[in-house]
Amino acid sequence: MATSVNPTIERWRIIVEGIVQGVGFRPFVYGQARQLGLSGFVFNDSSGVNIEIEGAPAALDAFKKVLTTRTPPLARIHFLLVESLPVVGSASFIISHSRSGARRLALIAPDSATCDDCLEELFNPADRRYAYPFINCTNCGPRFNIVKDVPYDRDKTTMAPFRTCRTCQAEYDNPLDRRFHAQPNTCPVCGPQVSLLYAHRKDLKAANPVEAARQLSGTILAVKGPGGYHLACNALSNEAVSRPG
Ligand SMILES: [Zn+2]
Ligand SMILES: [Zn+2]
Repeated sequence: MATSVNPTIERWRIIVEGIVQGVGFRPFVYGQARQLGLSGFVFNDSSGVNIEIEGAPAALDAFKKVLTTRTPPLARIHFLLVESLPVVGSASFIISHSRSGARRLALIAPDSATCDDCLEELFNPADRRYAYPFINCTNCGPRFNIVKDVPYDRDKTTMAPFRTCRTCQAEYDNPLDRRFHAQPNTCPVCGPQVSLLYAHRKDLKAANPVEAARQLSGTILAVKGPGGYHLACNALSNEAVSRPG
């Protein structure tokens, strides 16, 4: 018996290119699709974001509108293509595995300064990321600095060797969490740590590396972040800096 297709349902493919990876675009699409009762999937490929979405035409129109009007803060859409597909009857909406492609057009967002939500956690002694310098979320943190290839996923960044702890993984998996699908998600338990290495005293370890670095005077300090050495500065004392000549 042939299955009849509900004429009030449509299926679209939407291709989005620009800065749409590493900016929370997939979780954003997921949230909007679920909210509008649409089904289908979204995935990253080496060109950008690929969406197949199915539902009532009015809901699809509303979805297309929010894609461009409520875009995540770090995202920039340069190209958006909508095409019609045969309805397949997807049951729910999911984030699918990324796929590589021949074209490598995906743009990666620049690193972004710590957002207000993360700053609040950073300075809250009760928070599990209190004073943790590598704090980040879907809306802030390193991107271009850590990416090695596209499509942008943790295994293609310098964060790959850091295996997420259970709590970080639970945040990553929870659609209601602000770190849902945040690739560099990390914490003091599972992420990078700060350390101070002395060129001539390799045996010396500072208990408080940031404070110890601050105390250094007349020394060249090379700073290594999650993306490698990217800054070297002369750690002069204030006294030396202010002294003329
Ligand atoms: Zn943040
Ligand atoms: Zn963790």
